[in-house]
Amino acid sequence: MKRIYVVEDEENIRELIKVALQGFGYLVEAFETAEEGLCAMRKIKPSLMVFDWMLPGMSGVDAIREIRKSTAFKRMPILLLTAKDKEIDKVIGLDNGADDYMTKPFGVLELCARIRSLLRRMEEEHIVEEKTFGTIRLCPSTREIFKKEEKMELTFKEYELLLYLIEHETKVVTREELLTQIWGYGYTGESRTLDIHIRTLRQKIGEENQMFIKTVRGVGYRFVNE
Ligand code: CA
Repeated sequence: MKRIYVVEDEENIRELIKVALQGFGYLVEAFETAEEGLCAMRKIKPSLMVFDWMLPGMSGVDAIREIRKSTAFKRMPILLLTAKDKEIDKVIGLDNGADDYMTKPFGVLELCARIRSLLRRMEEEHIVEEKTFGTIRLCPSTREIFKKEEKMELTFKEYELLLYLIEHETKVVTREELLTQIWGYGYTGESRTLDIHIRTLRQKIGEENQMFIKTVRGVGYRFVNE
């Protein structure tokens, strides 16, 4: 289920947006201030955020600027709400990293449609969301991987192996499947290659993250993130 955070200080608008989005099946959390929204975002990353521009404390535009500084949140879709309706305000909002913009008063159904379109555009562009487990953060769009926010070096195959396991989370992936998918259909080498790669991968992700990659004896491996 897609998670959306809404930051809006006007209670009636906040509730209206929340209820409408819940009606479309999104998991919605709403906040009064940008500070609370940013705090929640850092704990669990949402698929999309909605910010009102004028907020007590940090403004919506300042919050968006802050969010865009971090690579982890660069591509998260953000929609900006505002009572300002001058062309220049729209430009300021978009220049500071908002993906879309709506002027108050707005129709809540149009807002939901814009949100669906932002989420769809993100999927169509194949902007794969980053994956996190334990102290590891993997960014498929840049092929980067971080342990405790420190960049790690994985070989091409180690990276492919880890990503494949994550993408098939909770499923048992057989040795044959991995050899075929990662080493190619014509792979005729010995299957110890796989064991060696799994071993070095486990060493690199560290002891604190070992429990995520489980060995299913005699069959293959399973990635479990719970
Ligand atoms: Ca406001």
